[in-house]
Amino acid sequence: MEQQLNTNQALDLFILGGGINGAGVARDASGRGASVMLCEKDDLAEGTSSRTTKFIHGGLRYLEQFEFSLVRKSLIEREVILNIAPHVSFPLRLIFINNNKIRNPLLIRTGLFVYDHLGGRRSMPSTDRVNLASSPEGLEVKERYSSGYGYWDVWTDDARMVVLNAKDARRNGAVIRTRTEFIGAEPHEDHWVVSIRDRTTGTLERIRARILFDATGPWLKSNSGKFTGLDRPGDLKLVQGSHIILRKWWRGSHAYVLQHADRRIVFVVPYLDDLAVVGTTERHLEGPIEEASILPSEQDYLLDILNSHFKRQFGPADVVSSYSGVRPLFGRDDRKGLSRVTRDYHLDMTMVNGKLPIVSAYGGKLTTYRVLAEDVLDLLGPHLPNAGTPWTAGKPLPGGDVPQGDFNGWYGEFARNYGFLDEPLLRHLGTTYGTEALDVLDGVRDKSDLGRCFGGHFHEREAYWLAEHEMAKFADDFLFRRTKHGLFLSSEERDDFEIWLNSNSL
Ligand SMILES: Cc1cc2nc3c(=O)[nH]c(=O)nc-3n(C[C@H](O)[C@H](O)[C@H](O)COP(=O)(O)OP(=O)(O)OC[C@H]3O[C@@H](n4cnc5c(N)ncnc54)[C@H](O)[C@@H]3O)c2cc1C
Repeated sequence: MEQQLNTNQALDLFILGGGINGAGVARDASGRGASVMLCEKDDLAEGTSSRTTKFIHGGLRYLEQFEFSLVRKSLIEREVILNIAPHVSFPLRLIFINNNKIRNPLLIRTGLFVYDHLGGRRSMPSTDRVNLASSPEGLEVKERYSSGYGYWDVWTDDARMVVLNAKDARRNGAVIRTRTEFIGAEPHEDHWVVSIRDRTTGTLERIRARILFDATGPWLKSNSGKFTGLDRPGDLKLVQGSHIILRKWWRGSHAYVLQHADRRIVFVVPYLDDLAVVGTTERHLEGPIEEASILPSEQDYLLDILNSHFKRQFGPADVVSSYSGVRPLFGRDDRKGLSRVTRDYHLDMTMVNGKLPIVSAYGGKLTTYRVLAEDVLDLLGPHLPNAGTPWTAGKPLPGGDVPQGDFNGWYGEFARNYGFLDEPLLRHLGTTYGTEALDVLDGVRDKSDLGRCFGGHFHEREAYWLAEHEMAKFADDFLFRRTKHGLFLSSEERDDFEIWLNSNSL
């Protein structure tokens, strides 16, 4: 499946980083006919892009900072993502719990009114008032919280969004190299010479490319010195945010929004049927980005806010798992505090030696990756004269091409056709691969055709397919980024899978 490079010609575009922004630009640019290569030092989405709250959202709280244009752009994206990725995204109802001591509910109501009307909402209902004392949504909430608002945003599988973008880019002819580190770029007459190193074999390679796009997110600063001739402007703050995963304890598919005494808000979100994700925290990163992990004080912060809102009380033993991501925030104003630095992205284009472009993306959100990609290609327009026009808003990501955009209708038929398989397994396949689940199950006539089960719903058939079609190489690629099977396998089962993987050299 690996694409071949035409080594006689310089590539149009070389992309550093396989998070959502790198993968999104690779998809867009390759679909416009540009020759593209992307290198990722680890696995696709191994950085920030698999460690988010998993919302495609306008960001209600950004209204407090008067970021109307960011909120509008993001709200519009909710509808776009629901259309192009109906298998890995869905509308989610959130219950915002009122607390007069922290925010005036009237202010919240006004904010939600603006939120409802700012961004072309079509697929989601409008905000409603919720009486927590009498509605099912209030059953688990402490009595002192008697009212709230129900509003809607979109949930998505962040890591799969990255993989699907990279996969589509590949189908458009882009070369995607994982476990391949960018180690330097030198300007030559009319092209860059980019040095990369395959981290599994140690092989060094030099690639010629006319344009560079740096999508290394939090690593932007640490990679800066690797470009000869580049003097980078801008200021990047690195902020760690952590989430905890617990067993879900309330009935219903809605999420909760809790207000902390420090005015931050914390989301409590249903996750994979019977789990819940709670987050996020916010603190200046100390130490290497790769080693970011939850601190006891962050876990306490999240457990405390749960305990002050819910009747059920939680302790460290309830935490099933946790993850931490590093947010690269763009901005200089230290007086604002971390929560108040803009979440919008900033694109910087520098012409090295007056003619070799390098574009760097600072900050941003998962939600706006597609618009960011369009903006990057807009900026590069004069340097890519033959590139086509924007196209990604109307074309489904792999597996998202369900008839009439009706995912539930498609899923019903899929589940009927494979009635001999367990429903949870079918749901996993349908909501992970969409229409490509048919390819995963090609030729399966009986459960035994799925091969060995590694635990949960994870079978050999799926592992082979992921290795062949989704660039999965190491155990965690399969267990935690292409899927979330890892959360449902015991540590022995995960070890057994790794042994199987190594012995099969997929
Ligand atoms: C806690 C938290 C929660 C969030 N929640 C949300 C949310 O709910 N909704 C939302 O819209 N946004 C959210 N965000 C923001 C969102 O996660 C980021 O905007 C987005 O993931 C940034 O993607 P990226 O591609 O720029 O960076 P990354 O995903 O970090 O990708 C950069 C990649 O570059 C690679 N790299 C670095 N150096 C090199 C090198 N030398 N060679 C090759 N590769 C290299 C890294 O390995 C990495 O994979 C959240 C962020 C955090 C931290």
